[in-house]
Order: sequence, then C-alpha cells, then structure tokens
Amino acid sequence: MTIWAIKNADVIVTMDDARRKLAGADIVIDGGAIRAIGPDAAGDLPAMDARGCVITPGLVNTHHHLYQSLTRAVPEGQDALLFGWLQTLYPIWGKFTPDHMFTSAQVGLIELALSGCSLSSDHLYVYPNGTRLEDTIHAAREVGLRFQPTRGAMSIGISDGGLPPDTLVEKEADILEDCIRVIDAFHDAAPSSMCRVGVAPCSPFSVSRELMRDAALLARDKGVMMHTHLAENDEDIAYSFANFGCRPGQYAESLGWVGPDVWHAHCVKLDAAEIKLFADTSTGIAHCPCSNCRLGSGIAPIRKMRDAQVPVGLGVDGSASNDAGNLIAEARQAMLLQRVASGADAMSADEALEIATRGGADVLGRPECGRLQVGARADIAIWDMGGIEAAGSWDPSALLLAGPTTVRDLIVEGRDVVRDGQMVAIDTNAVIARQNDLVQGLRDGM
Ligand SMILES: [Zn+2]
Repeated sequence: MTIWAIKNADVIVTMDDARRKLAGADIVIDGGAIRAIGPDAAGDLPAMDARGCVITPGLVNTHHHLYQSLTRAVPEGQDALLFGWLQTLYPIWGKFTPDHMFTSAQVGLIELALSGCSLSSDHLYVYPNGTRLEDTIHAAREVGLRFQPTRGAMSIGISDGGLPPDTLVEKEADILEDCIRVIDAFHDAAPSSMCRVGVAPCSPFSVSRELMRDAALLARDKGVMMHTHLAENDEDIAYSFANFGCRPGQYAESLGWVGPDVWHAHCVKLDAAEIKLFADTSTGIAHCPCSNCRLGSGIAPIRKMRDAQVPVGLGVDGSASNDAGNLIAEARQAMLLQRVASGADAMSADEALEIATRGGADVLGRPECGRLQVGARADIAIWDMGGIEAAGSWDPSALLLAGPTTVRDLIVEGRDVVRDGQMVAIDTNAVIARQNDLVQGLRDGM
C-alpha cells in the first residue's frame, strides 16, 4: 500500500464529527483511506503541496440521470413543465444505444469530477435498444469516480394511463429479474466499495403499486439501497391524490418506501406530517435546487427538513433539467434558494457544504465518505484559491461565497482523478468529440 501525504493547505474543512477547520495540518493517505490528519502528521512521507488551497471532502451527488447529458437544452423542452418536458424527451431517449449511455455517463461524470464530486449516484430508468446498467458502470470505472448506480424502471406506458410511451416501458417481471442480475454482478458492500447498486423504480406515476412493493422487498432481501422520485411538484401531488387517494409520503410508507435504506429525489412538496415521517424513519432526501428552479417546481423545505433531522443530500439531477452538472455550484444554489424562501440566515455556506459532503454520504449509506477523518475513505477535493474567483476573499473556507467552481485536484480512494485541473485517466477532448458525433446523429434522425 502506498502511503503519502498532502501538506501546507491554507485550511482543511474536515466535515468531521466536530466540524473542525484545520490550518497548518497534514493529511496522511494509506491506500484508499485516511490514516492521520493533523499538524506534522506527514513527517518525511512523500507529499503533495497544497499551499494556497482549501481542502474539503470530495463532494457527494445523490441524484442524477447521467444518460440525459446528451439531451441538454433541447429546444422543445427548454420552457416546459415537468410532465411536458418528459414527453418531449422520451422519443429522443428511445433512440439511445449502449454507446449513447456510456458516452453520456462519461460526459456527466467528468463534469462532476471537475467540480469536486468523488461519489455519485445515478438513476437510469430507460433501457432501449439493448442498453444496460453496466454501460454506465463501465463509464464510471474509466473516469475513476465512486459510483452508486440504481437500476431504475418504468412499467406503465401511455396505453395503461401512464406518462411514458409504451416503447420505453418494461415488463415488471423482467425489471425485477434484471435488478437481481446487476446486484449479483456489480454490487460491492465493502467500505472501500467503488460500486454499490440500488433499486429504483422511476416514480409513482410510471410504475405500479405492485412493482414499488416488490422492489422494496427485493432491495431489502439483497441489502441494497432504494431510490425514487417523490413529491416533485404540484402535478405530482395531484396525481397521487387522483390515483392513490393519498399524499406521496403516505403512499411511500404504505409500500415500504421509508427507512434509512431509502432516499427520495426532490420532495419539494412534502408537508409537515411527511417531514415528520421522514425524520422518524431516517428516510433520506436528494435536494436538487437547480432542477427545481429550472422546471419551476418550487422551493423544497430544506430548512424545515434539516431542523427536523431529515437526512438531506444534494443532487444535480439530470443534465436535461439542470442543465449543468457542477456540484459545487449546486451547493451554492441550495444555499441561495433557502435564503430566497426564508431569509439570509436560513442557510450558511458551511451548512450547504455539509449537505454536499457528509450529508449526501449519509443519505447514500456511505458514512465512511464525505468527511476527512481518520479511517474515512481518502476522497479529497483540493481547491486553488489563487484565481480570480477567490480574489478578495477574507475567509477561504467560505468556498460557496467566493471560490473556484472547479478543483485543482481530486482524489478518490487514494487515487488521482483530477490533477492540475485535468482528468488523469481519461481524454476529455476525445469524450467531447464522441458526444458531438452522437448528438449530431440523434438530431439528423429526428
Ligand atoms: Zn430526477
């Protein structure tokens, strides 16, 4: 095992249990884990110099649809509400092949890595033309990020009263069988795991009650996490009342979709009783502020959730609705949006960064990530404060107020993923060229 150190950072924002900010401290990395952190901890070890930099834990992204990276800013979807936006994009996604899935995932993961993200989940719920979950797993392996793909699914097409076209839905028995296949093939439960698979029916409006229940039973039998979209906007709440006769939180609870092994994306419209339910059951939230703004969904009650001790993480959501996938910028947006709703003291820069690091790691069931402390995984973001964005800052640890939006270096499981602002293991220009060809092909075929 290689042992090395990072020295001379201006400040290390540890996000440890005491939320310490350390000046003049070293971080010692042993293989994939942090062995020591503190003054003079490095001794004579080989060391990376981080003078002029702020160090944070690698950021954690709790909600994404990486396949959407090839459908950014599609004109017909630019100003649509959620359901209309989906109906615009479904036919384009229906043309995707394994190459589109792989390349789209690489685009999204590179953007995340450059913005300081070391661990990302993904929610893939369309499988046209022989595409499979492992198309994205292979992409994450090449890029070098820690990955938590979820096997999403839709089973109710237009002819059954659902939203998606019938060509994009699957039979429920096939969905469950493929969930088992990908868990058995790719899920690694070890603390050092670079890939944990989850089970993730797309949303209550695209699968049946039976699939929601069976998916929960399967996930718990296999010991994996569960994920879906919930209570995203007013249309979503109306759909729940019309079709299930109750609010989304009650529907989720009735089917086993609450607990520390569950996290729901968005939850913009949770009411006080649902917030209490999520707090009492440690059910997690993936907060996606840019997407909520972009689609006009509303402002999620994150202040109330945090005060009630609901586990909250941050997500960029798919690049067709964000449209960016910059996680540090998303953290700033989370801070700003709570201030719009509740005043300038509603969320500090420190709290938004906490949600983006240890908050997200806890939501994903990865408490060994998202903090810099002895025994934690060596997932580390190094931010150079020497550029114009940070010029004039009196508090380098307040990255979300004044600081860069891309990392100098990113370390995942002790390995370099970004070095001096460039991807280490992958040729970014080649990925951009490949996606250009694929997007042109999709446009020509329309
Ligand atoms: Zn989503």
